[in-house]
Amino acid sequence: MKLIGIIGGMSWESSLEYYRIMNETVKKELGGWHSARVLMYSVDFHEIEAHQRSGDWKAAAEMLSKAAVSLEKGGADMVVIATNTMHKIAPEVTAAVKIPLVHIADAVGEAIGEQNLKTVGLLGTRFTMEEDFLKGYLEKTYALNVITPEDHEMTLVHDVIYNELCLGTINPNSKRSYIDIINKLEQKGSQGVILGCTEIPLLVQQADVGLPLFDTTTLHAKMAVELAIEMEPENQ
Ligand code: GLU
Repeated sequence: MKLIGIIGGMSWESSLEYYRIMNETVKKELGGWHSARVLMYSVDFHEIEAHQRSGDWKAAAEMLSKAAVSLEKGGADMVVIATNTMHKIAPEVTAAVKIPLVHIADAVGEAIGEQNLKTVGLLGTRFTMEEDFLKGYLEKTYALNVITPEDHEMTLVHDVIYNELCLGTINPNSKRSYIDIINKLEQKGSQGVILGCTEIPLLVQQADVGLPLFDTTTLHAKMAVELAIEMEPENQ
């Protein structure tokens, strides 16, 4: 089994989920006492959030590129950036190392393709919902039509992520608001909704709504494990 390198801490609440899901997936696939081989570089999210807020993506890219180089030096065989938003600087991180980057949009794009859906809603930070690093990637690479909420709904979704979920708060009122927004996306033609922020699955789960949800945390973590096992089948 290959060594999975995770750049985590964005937030650590969701990195815990990555770690749990990776281990559960390996156990399911290989059984017995098998567990995931993981090396995590967990950053201080305070610094990253400050760079996001001030728009200093260059500084953020430098921080995460250094983290990726550390993981590579530590023997990691691949890099997983454990957040959707920071895939904005995925090209810089990819360029900093020789090992492959497991892109979160590929994990979600493949899962949506398997269900043959064409139009999907997207929830995430404002960066993720408005910019092209995830939305555009899915539209171009997977020929999907990606729908986002109304502007005031985007504000709510974004604020709940930073002011609640990334601080470890699960608020039932926010859950109700998210479910309402998901239902509106369905009325606008979404056949499924991407939980495009790695903390959202802590708030909303499949049982809460009728249409299929695409949980980027689970899909991304599972894709990395599949690659780790596939890359060295003789060691399974
Ligand atoms: N984890 C979140 C995401 O998937 C937001 C935190 C961040 O800005 O990285 O986008």
